[in-house]
Amino acid sequence: MPADQLAGRQAFHVMSITDNIKTVMDRIAAAQLTRRDPASVKLVIVTKTIDSERIREAVAAGAAILGENRVQEAKEKIEKLGGIASWHLIGHLQANKARHAVKLFDLIHSVDSLALAQELDRQAAKLGKVQNVLIEVNIAGEASKAGMTVRKAPALVREAAKLGNIAIQGLMTIPPFSEDQEDSRPYFCVLRELAESIAKEHIPNAAMKELSMGMSGDFEAAVEEGATLVRVGTAIFGERI
Ligand SMILES: *Cc1c(COP(=O)(O)O)cnc(C)c1O
Repeated sequence: MPADQLAGRQAFHVMSITDNIKTVMDRIAAAQLTRRDPASVKLVIVTKTIDSERIREAVAAGAAILGENRVQEAKEKIEKLGGIASWHLIGHLQANKARHAVKLFDLIHSVDSLALAQELDRQAAKLGKVQNVLIEVNIAGEASKAGMTVRKAPALVREAAKLGNIAIQGLMTIPPFSEDQEDSRPYFCVLRELAESIAKEHIPNAAMKELSMGMSGDFEAAVEEGATLVRVGTAIFGERI
């Protein structure tokens, strides 16, 4: 893309961040009207690849939670911007980055193995912190995606719940990509049903109160199916370039 066109695109996105956040919040509220349960929906504004200036604008427009998918990128931003919002890790986490992750994030959405849960527990203990986490479930079993299988997720919750320095708050999923959000809906239903079924076990230290599901293309279906955290980037900042 020619530089002047690129600048034009960025300028457009910069100007519309505030409007876009308002529109997304309105769409979430409308989708929430169709739900039976009153649990509130929190918007995680996904800031991966987005520069500090645009992040500041999003925060000024009401962003309370920011989602990053890489520890190193998030670390640089958090060192620069500090505690302007609550920072969540939404992307895959390698065990060797657990120490940084525990320092940086209020919620880690992507715990997909007992080994990772144990490493987070160890690092959190060193900091005297209890790290809030979600268990990531790979419902479609896509090889390209992280996440525990539906069948093994309850066992992971039971084992991870025994660790004293992590606190399980719920589940997260990323359905297969599709242009049509109705294709995502069955996966969102499965995640909700899985959380309900785990909740019935009354496992100490494993709350099933958060469901992190829904992105720019399918957050309304996710909200209708019970999401409490939706992770939205493109609908707010435009296409990542
Ligand atoms: C990038 C990302 C999102 C946001 O996707 P958009 O389509 O830009 O809204 C949500 N969740 C995860 C895990 C991501 O990596």
